[in-house]
Amino acid sequence: MSDTCIFCRIARGEAPARLVYQDERFTAFHDAAPQAPLHILIIPNRHMTNLNEALATDAGWLGELLLLARQLAAEMGLAEPGYRLVLNTGRQAGQSVHHLHLHLLGGRRLGWPPG
Ligand code: AMP
Repeated sequence: MSDTCIFCRIARGEAPARLVYQDERFTAFHDAAPQAPLHILIIPNRHMTNLNEALATDAGWLGELLLLARQLAAEMGLAEPGYRLVLNTGRQAGQSVHHLHLHLLGGRRLGWPPG
């Protein structure tokens, strides 16, 4: 946990966010600048800058993160129309918040390739 990381502060309930899910490992909340009708961020409560820091021992919770994204997508009615998961990692990918987060985007047709 970091005192200055905005996503750590959201996970601890110290910064405002529109939460959609929280348990002892993960927090999910609406993106403040949504890029689709549904745009949720799912984060591990424990601070990790990005996927580059993950070790083999992180495989379990990383898998759980994907399954949680699938669960939330299904609960929001996105399973059939489809959705996109994005894990921006590093500068050239445009990562702007340095706490690992999975974007869950849906509710409109999403172009490919991304910009
Ligand atoms: P990325 O570019 O992958 O690092 O994405 C960071 C995302 O976090 C962006 O889509 C921002 O709109 C979003 N974001 C930044 N600060 C907040 C916040 N306080 N609450 C909700 N979403 C945020």
